Amino acid sequence: MKKFYLDKTDMNTFERAEKYITKLYALREEIHRHPEPGNNEFKTAALVEETLHSLGIGTQRVTETAVVGTLKGGKPGPCAALRADMDALPVSEDSGAFFASETPGIMHACGHDVHTAAALGAAMLLAEHRESLAGTVKFFFEPDEEGSGGAVRMITAGCMEGVEAVFGAHVAPDLPAGVIGVRYGKFYAASDMFTVKIHGRSAHGAQPEKGIDALAAAASLVGELRSLPADYIADRSVLSIGTLHAGTAGNIIAGEAEFSGIMRTLGAEDRKKLKQAFRETVNRVSAAFGAEPEIKIRESYAGIVNTEEETRHVQRTAEALFGVDNVRILDQPTMTTEDFGYFIDAAKGSFFHIGAGCSAPLHNPKFLPEPLTIIRLAALHADIIEQYLKNASVRNEAQHR
Ligand SMILES: [Zn+2]
Ligand SMILES: [Zn+2]
Repeated sequence: MKKFYLDKTDMNTFERAEKYITKLYALREEIHRHPEPGNNEFKTAALVEETLHSLGIGTQRVTETAVVGTLKGGKPGPCAALRADMDALPVSEDSGAFFASETPGIMHACGHDVHTAAALGAAMLLAEHRESLAGTVKFFFEPDEEGSGGAVRMITAGCMEGVEAVFGAHVAPDLPAGVIGVRYGKFYAASDMFTVKIHGRSAHGAQPEKGIDALAAAASLVGELRSLPADYIADRSVLSIGTLHAGTAGNIIAGEAEFSGIMRTLGAEDRKKLKQAFRETVNRVSAAFGAEPEIKIRESYAGIVNTEEETRHVQRTAEALFGVDNVRILDQPTMTTEDFGYFIDAAKGSFFHIGAGCSAPLHNPKFLPEPLTIIRLAALHADIIEQYLKNASVRNEAQHR
């Protein structure tokens, strides 16, 4: 293990974190062995509470399985939050780990066990420094990130009140072990699912002029809609159509057609633009055929747009802790989704990646981040929060002078 020294006179946070290895590995193994699907994180939430209480950190259940811990520092200052998600996935584990899932068909295949253990590790490190902490730390343990999303419910319950900035991370199979991936601005995509029904009029195949061909309208829409992202949006965006059903027999003009798909965009503006272009195209093409469209759009997560200053803070803190060679600025966003963006949208903040030392992809039965990821992430989380509070207090003081 390569060591990096932040402060020659002192142990750095990674070295301080190493003394919690036994405790944190055991916590991760316990969580991994007993994975719980979204909104059923009862055992995990209880374990999180028990651990926080043992550190003298008070907790609150803000939804049935969402836990918010509050650590008040010894000095006055602002409030910063750290978020970890706790839910597992309907995947049958095939990782070969000695602590593999004991619940058939459910697995921590997205590394949320590592996120939860690392946030608890950060709590241990920050609680050690409680007296010198300049402000308050909130720990968000979120349920159901993979499903309906716990973030919005936690925010509605008031968890972001008074929080100035929020930080969080995801393990990443595409980065080398321990390397931190930082992204400025647009990071994760927003997604919107859609279903379109085209109502036409069926007729005898020999007399198409007496009918309204819903199938032909749908087919031409599929072609036009797929090219919308390229036509309307400069930034990367995707519109894909996954189903198309129409017609009942080869000699009948189809009176009804239905197709469904998903749009993925980066940032609120592109999201709005693409949705608008989508509706206009469906209405225009349907009208040209004389058909009536029925559009349903189901909005999913809004995506992540990292704020500049907080992202720079993550970059600098990671460089100081692990060295510049172990920090990468990601030049591409990802088209996958994450509901962390809602926390940022309610204040400021930054989400980053950490190389998990595992090449199997996320959501794969073999996905298993290496344990040291927990220690690295715990140390980085603790430094990010502690330094953020310190910097913000200095800034606020200067403003009041
Ligand atoms: Zn996932
Ligand atoms: Zn995940």
